Amino acid sequence: MSGARIVVVGSVNLDIVATAATLPAPGETVTGASLAFHPGGKGANQALAAQRLGGAVTLIACVGADPNAAAALALLRADGVDLTLLRTDPNAATGVALIAVNAAGENQIVVASGANAKLAAADVKLPPHDGVLCQMEVAPGVVAAAAERCKGFFAVNLAPALHAPSILFERADLVIVNEGEAAVYGGALDQARGLVAVTYGARGAALFRQGRRLVEAAPPAVTPVDTTGAGDCFSAALTLALVEGQPKEQALRFACAAGAAATTRAGAQTGMPWRAEVEALSPPPV
Ligand code: ADP
Repeated sequence: MSGARIVVVGSVNLDIVATAATLPAPGETVTGASLAFHPGGKGANQALAAQRLGGAVTLIACVGADPNAAAALALLRADGVDLTLLRTDPNAATGVALIAVNAAGENQIVVASGANAKLAAADVKLPPHDGVLCQMEVAPGVVAAAAERCKGFFAVNLAPALHAPSILFERADLVIVNEGEAAVYGGALDQARGLVAVTYGARGAALFRQGRRLVEAAPPAVTPVDTTGAGDCFSAALTLALVEGQPKEQALRFACAAGAAATTRAGAQTGMPWRAEVEALSPPPV
């Protein structure tokens, strides 16, 4: 356990997943589905991953005063993420992602942001920290406030790809994107002051600075069961490793191994690995 103090500012969702033979066309009703509830939201997923990987994590987020909140927070509570700065908004519903999945594993997703959209810059009261990690599932002004107030290492996973305030590129020590998001942001990433990590799924990831490729790493060979949450696990792992002071190449290898480990179990949060599992997959250099 490193105990590095990481504050995650981001979203909490309850993913409500209906699995059926086919996806409905507009106006169509599909019956015979099975239903499952999974805690989700990029903020919550990354907070849980950073905690399981050895960080001491605080989550700043907003949920509604409804039964979905307890379900969405269950794994964070069980793993000891500090939720004392979480706000409950009595006038909002906990964020929900309605996910329909067909037999081929294709999906349709509708997200009702609910309380996540109520998280405000005024909620970003950072406790003592070594690093702060954000994503783009809360208002851009909230992420900008976290960037301004961060006194340590500031990392932002620019997912989903949206218009990002310029302070994020100026302040971030680390920007994390997947291949698709990198294509959306394009040359803006080359203007970032800090490191930029780009992930390429099973092909691994690379670190850039001002458009120059510094290091790359491949994940260990695994048998993927469910790739949901791999990017969230990677973001948490790379942030934690760099906050711990690991050299870039070792940190990137650790993050690739963490992302790969997350694909070996079903579910975004239930699939998040613990540190010992990741270290077993990614032995330190001799
Ligand atoms: P996202 O989920 O944001 O699209 P990626 O799919 O690029 O992110 O995955 C993030 C990291 O997780 C990758 O860099 C890689 O290390 C690991 N990963 C993802 N998919 C696989 C896979 N099929 N096999 C091994 N590792 C994977």
